[in-house]
Amino acid sequence: MTLLSGHISHPGLADVLTRIDTAARQAGRSRDEITLIAVSKTFDAPDIRPVLEAGQRAFGENRVQEAKGKWPALHDAFPGVEVHLIGPLQTNKVKEAVALFDAIHTLDRPKLAGELAKEIAKQGRAPKLFIEVNTGGEPQKAGILPEATDAFVTQCRQEFGLTIEGLMCIPPVDEEPSLHFALLDKIARRNGLPGLSMGMSSDFEVAVAFGATHVRVGSAIFGSRSYAG
Ligand SMILES: *Cc1c(COP(=O)(O)O)cnc(C)c1O
Repeated sequence: MTLLSGHISHPGLADVLTRIDTAARQAGRSRDEITLIAVSKTFDAPDIRPVLEAGQRAFGENRVQEAKGKWPALHDAFPGVEVHLIGPLQTNKVKEAVALFDAIHTLDRPKLAGELAKEIAKQGRAPKLFIEVNTGGEPQKAGILPEATDAFVTQCRQEFGLTIEGLMCIPPVDEEPSLHFALLDKIARRNGLPGLSMGMSSDFEVAVAFGATHVRVGSAIFGSRSYAG
């Protein structure tokens, strides 16, 4: 960490950044292709500020209300901050979500796509959109099924006029994540999508090896959460 940056080091953040650098180098990828999203859900300003002071600018939240409570003030204090919604989005929260977030990683159904398109037009503000794919086909999990994703990408583009940045997945906890990362990469490529939001604390280095452009890392930076979030 260079003194010229004027940043105070944060041990969890510094460690994750080093590990991303190493994983990128080993994969022969440019470090600039990978955005670290520091997942700050369940943590409040006293835990988030040191990470901001260390220079981190992209953060992830999984609840609209929680993000609304803590981010506007931090946004004002730290220019250049971007906040990503990584949790499920209900259609009745779309207005707030479009106003608040710089990216939404959980677009997974036509009704939501329609509401997002309407609100983006109304507000003149367009968060980057990722389609969540349920790569493991888990019944309890959000996301569009892999076999339905091509048609949904086309529908988002043609019927709703949305620009889709990429795909997102959360692999099943008990499975080898690389199979899911490879599947997501394959679906993204054949649809001409540049973004891959994949990889969490336990597997972000594997995700980088499989082409992740956005890794979503919480506990490895902030420590363990007191509830599941
Ligand atoms: C909580 C969460 C993360 C971060 O999880 P960690 O294991 O703490 O890194 C990433 N993605 C999503 C969708 C999450 O809900």
